[in-house]
Amino acid sequence: MPDTTELIERLRATLGDAVVTAEDERYAAALVVFYGGEPIRPAAVVLAQTPDDVASTVRLVAPTGVELAIRSGGHSSDRFALCDGGIVLDLSGMKALSIDAEERTAWAETGMTVREYTQAVGELGLATGFGDIGDVGIGGITLGGGLGYLSRVHGLTIDNVLAAEVVTADGELVVADEHNHPDLFWAIRGGGGNFGVVTRFKFRLWDLPTLTGGMIVLPGSAEALAAVVDYAANAPEELTLMVNSMVAPPMPFLPEAVHGKLVIMLNVAYVGDPESAEAALAPVRAIAEPLIEQVAEMPYAALIPEQALDIHPVGSARTMFLEALTLEQAQFVVDHLRSATAPMASAGIRVLGGAIDRIPVDATAYAHRGRRLLANFAAYTFDGSEVAELEDWVDELWHELKQDDAAYLNFFGHEPPRRVRDVYPGATWERLQRVKARYDPDNVFRRNHNIAPVSVG
Ligand SMILES: Cc1cc2nc3c(=O)[nH]c(=O)nc-3n(C[C@H](O)[C@H](O)[C@H](O)COP(=O)(O)OP(=O)(O)OC[C@H]3O[C@@H](n4cnc5c(N)ncnc54)[C@H](O)[C@@H]3O)c2cc1C
Repeated sequence: MPDTTELIERLRATLGDAVVTAEDERYAAALVVFYGGEPIRPAAVVLAQTPDDVASTVRLVAPTGVELAIRSGGHSSDRFALCDGGIVLDLSGMKALSIDAEERTAWAETGMTVREYTQAVGELGLATGFGDIGDVGIGGITLGGGLGYLSRVHGLTIDNVLAAEVVTADGELVVADEHNHPDLFWAIRGGGGNFGVVTRFKFRLWDLPTLTGGMIVLPGSAEALAAVVDYAANAPEELTLMVNSMVAPPMPFLPEAVHGKLVIMLNVAYVGDPESAEAALAPVRAIAEPLIEQVAEMPYAALIPEQALDIHPVGSARTMFLEALTLEQAQFVVDHLRSATAPMASAGIRVLGGAIDRIPVDATAYAHRGRRLLANFAAYTFDGSEVAELEDWVDELWHELKQDDAAYLNFFGHEPPRRVRDVYPGATWERLQRVKARYDPDNVFRRNHNIAPVSVG
C-alpha cells in the first residue's frame, strides 16, 4: 500500500472536513455500496460538494499515483466505487438539478440517483430514461449506456445526453458536447469512467405525464419463455417487456402456491394511450394465464422503485447479446434455473431495437446498435463462500447460449479485464484508446472497466 499520509494532509488543507479517514465516525457509512464481499478500505474518502472539490481532489491525487475511485450511486458489480488503500471521490453529496421545462432539458449533478432525478422531473410530467432501479447512480449508468423502459421509444440514456461537464486528469473542468471536446463527448457516452469525472450531465427531457406499467407474472416453462421473448422482440416499440425468469422466492407479493416454482416475471412499460397498451398486452396473456397482473396507468416515476430490501449480495453475472431465444435454448435456461443453488438466480432478457437503432453506430462509444436482445444471467447469495460455484453456474449459461463475445458494459459481472475489449466492437476500441491517451495518458482513472491509453496499453 502506498503511504498516503502526506497526500491526506494536503487534501485536508484544501478540502477540510470533507476528507474522511478511518477514525472518523462517517467512515463506515461511506464504505457501504450495493454489492457485498470482503471489506475494501480506502485511505480516505472525499465527500465532494462542488465541482471545485472534484477538481482539487483530482489535482492532488493524480500526480501521486495513488489509486482514485469515483463513486456516484455505488452499484458497480466490481465495487469500483471503493478502492483498497487509495482515495475515494464520493459524488453523492452533489445533487444539484436545474430544469429548463421550456427547453425540455435538465442539468443534473452526478451524485443524484436515478429515482431522485426521475421524481424531480416527473413532477413536471417530464422524463429521461435510465434503468429499472431507482438507487443506481446517474453517473455510472449514463457513462455505461443506460438501458431501461424508455429506450425503445427515446433511446439509451446516452442518446439523451446533450452535454457534460468533466474534470479531466489534469484537474481542468471542461464542457464536452457536439462542438466542444467532441471526442471526449463521444467517449463518455458508453466508455465508462475512463476519461474524467463527470460532475454533471445535460439531459434531454421528454413529455411523459403517465404510461402503462407494472408487472405480469406467468407460470414458467420453456414454451412460455421462448414465446414471450419472441413476442417482446417483435412487439410495437412502445411496449417494453423485461423478461426475468427465476424460481419464485418466498416473497409476500407472490401467492404461496407459486413459491419454489419457476415463474416468468415481466416488468412492463407501454408508452402510449391505455387502449393501445391493452391491445399490445393481449398476446402476452394468450401465452399463459397470468399468475399475477398488476398493470395500470401510472406516472413513470412509480415504475422506478428503490431497492425494497437492504441487501448486499455477493455473486456473479454474465451478459450477452442474442438475435433470438429458440425453444431449445429456453429449455436449457429453464433447466439451468431449476438446478441453481443460489438463493437469487435469474435469467433476464431485455429487448432492444426501436430508437436505440436510429442512432448511427459511430455516434457514441456504445456501438452495439442493431442488436435485438440483451441477456443477463445472474446468481447471487449473501455468503461469499459459494461464489466459485455461482461463477460456474453463470458461465455454463453463457457458454451454452452466446452467439459471440459482445458485451454491454453496465451488465458486466466479475469479468477478467480483457473482456472490456468485447464491449467495444470494430474501430470503437482503438478510438477510445486514442481519446484516453489524449485526456488521461497516465491512466489516473483506472479503477473501472479500464481502457488503457494507447501509449500504456
Ligand atoms: C440492482 C441493479 C439494477 C440495474 N439496472 C440497470 C438497468 O436497468 N440498466 C442499465 O443500463 N444498468 C443497470 N444496472 C447497472 C448499472 O447501470 C451499473 O452498475 C452502473 O455502473 C452503476 O452506476 P453507479 O453510479 O450506481 O455505480 P458506481 O459504483 O458509483 O459507479 C460505477 C462506475 O462508474 C464510474 N463513475 C460513476 N460516476 C462517475 C462520474 N460521475 N464520473 C466518472 N466516473 C464515474 C465509477 O468509477 C465506476 O467505475 C443495474 C445495476 C444494479 C446493481
